[in-house]
Amino acid sequence: MKRDNAWLSYNEQEKKKVMDLSKEYINFISDCKTERECVAEAVIQAKEAGYRDMNEYIEGKKTIQAGDKLYAVNMDKTIALFHIGTKDIEQGMNILGAHIDSPRLDLKQNPLYEEGEQALLETHYYGGIKKYQWVTLPLAIHGVVVKKDGTKINVSIGEKEGEPVFCITDLLVHLAKKQLDKKGTELVEGEDLNVLVGSMPVNTEEKQAIKENVLTLIKEQYGFEEEDFLSAELEVVPAGRARDCGIDKSMVIGYGQDDRVCAFTSLKAMLQTETKEKTSVCLLVDKEEIGSVGATGMQSRFFENTVAELIALQGEYSELKLKRALKNSHMLSSDVSAAFDPNYAAVMEKKNSAYLGKGIVLNKYTGARGKSGCNDANPEYIASLRNIFDKEKVSFQTAELGKVDQGGGGTIAYILAEYNMQVIDCGVAVLNMHAPWEVTSKADIYETYKGYQAFLNHNV
Ligand code: MN
Ligand code: MN
Repeated sequence: MKRDNAWLSYNEQEKKKVMDLSKEYINFISDCKTERECVAEAVIQAKEAGYRDMNEYIEGKKTIQAGDKLYAVNMDKTIALFHIGTKDIEQGMNILGAHIDSPRLDLKQNPLYEEGEQALLETHYYGGIKKYQWVTLPLAIHGVVVKKDGTKINVSIGEKEGEPVFCITDLLVHLAKKQLDKKGTELVEGEDLNVLVGSMPVNTEEKQAIKENVLTLIKEQYGFEEEDFLSAELEVVPAGRARDCGIDKSMVIGYGQDDRVCAFTSLKAMLQTETKEKTSVCLLVDKEEIGSVGATGMQSRFFENTVAELIALQGEYSELKLKRALKNSHMLSSDVSAAFDPNYAAVMEKKNSAYLGKGIVLNKYTGARGKSGCNDANPEYIASLRNIFDKEKVSFQTAELGKVDQGGGGTIAYILAEYNMQVIDCGVAVLNMHAPWEVTSKADIYETYKGYQAFLNHNV
C-alpha cells in the first residue's frame, strides 16, 4: 500500500502555512525545555484563548456550561484543558494526550564538588539515553530551586546571548584505545556524566577555592546556597535553539521533540477548536519517559479526579457518571514514532515504518516482544479515524516501532485504555529519537496538527 508524500499535496499557500506553523513550533521547543516551562507556556496560551483556572469555578461555586473553557494544573508539571461540549459529559470526551518530559540529565541532590582544578556537578540521567551522545555538547541548566521558606527560584542558564554554557568532557581519541574497545552501553558510564561548571579559584588560601567561587557566583546571581540544592529540580539539557534543517528547510532539528512536537500540535489544535457536541480535552503530562509514575505522571489520579470535579461543577456528581464519561471517551495518545532511517534500515520493516513527510503516524500498537505491554487499538476505532482523516484531507501513515523483536517502547496509551476507552497512539515520526538533537519533518508537524484538529472536530 503506497502512501504519498504530503509535500506533493501542497500549493504555495499551504506550503506557507506549513512553514509558518514550524516557525511557531521552533520558538515553542526553544523556549520550553522542561515540563514546568511547557506548563507555564500552556497556561499563558490558554488564558489568551479564554480559558480559566478550574479552581476559580470550584472556589466561586460557579457552575459550568457548554462553551466554557477550563484548565487545571497539577504541581506545575501537568496540565489538563477542557472545552465543554453541548452534550452531557457522560457521552464521553475527545482527548488529546501528550507528554512534556524529555530525556535529560538531572542534578543529584548533593551535586557540586571540586577535583583536579575543576568544579563539577553530579547528574543522574532521566529516561532512555545513549550516554555517549551527551558528552562534548554545549549544555544549559533549567529548573527550580525551592528554599526552606518556600521561595521558588526559577533557573535558566545557557540559553541567552552572553550566558555561559556547560559541558561534559570526553576522553581524547589519542588516549581512548581501551575506551573504544568497550561496548556502546559502557563507553561513557552514567557516573561519569559530570558537568563541568568552573575552573577559577578565588582565594588560594581556601581549600576547594574553585567550588567556593562557583557557590559565590550562584549566590550572587541566583540567590541560593549549596544546601538549597537539596530541594531543587535542575535539569541539564542541550543549550541553544531549535533550527531549520536541510537546504530545503523541510525539517526541524531541536531538543525534546519527543514529545513536545505532539504537545505543541495538540495544544494548538485544542486552543483553536470551537464548542463541539463532545467535551474536548488536551492533557499534557509529565514522567512518561520513566514509566508515567508519580503524582504528575499519567498513572496519577489527577486526570480522573479532575474529571470528577468537572462533573460536580456541571451539576450532580456520581461515580457512575464519571465512569461513563471515561468509558465513552476517545483518545489520541499523541506521541512520536520512529522515522525510517536509511542509515539503519536493518532494524526497520520497510512496509510498516513511518517515513519523514508522509504525515501523521497511527501506531496501532507499540510494546516489545510480541506486543507486550502495549495498547492494541481496535480496528473499529482505526476505521473511524481513517474516515475522518480522509474527509479532512489529512495525510496519514501507519507504522510500528521497528522490526519484530528489535526492541520496543511504550506510551501513555495503555493507561487511559484501562478506563475502557478507545485509544490509539498517533503523532509525528522522529529521527534520532532521544538524542540531544532530534529531527522531524515540517510537513508531518503540519499534518499532525491538522489530524488533531480533525479528531476534535468530529464525533468519532
Ligand atoms: Mn514519547
Ligand atoms: Mn520517549
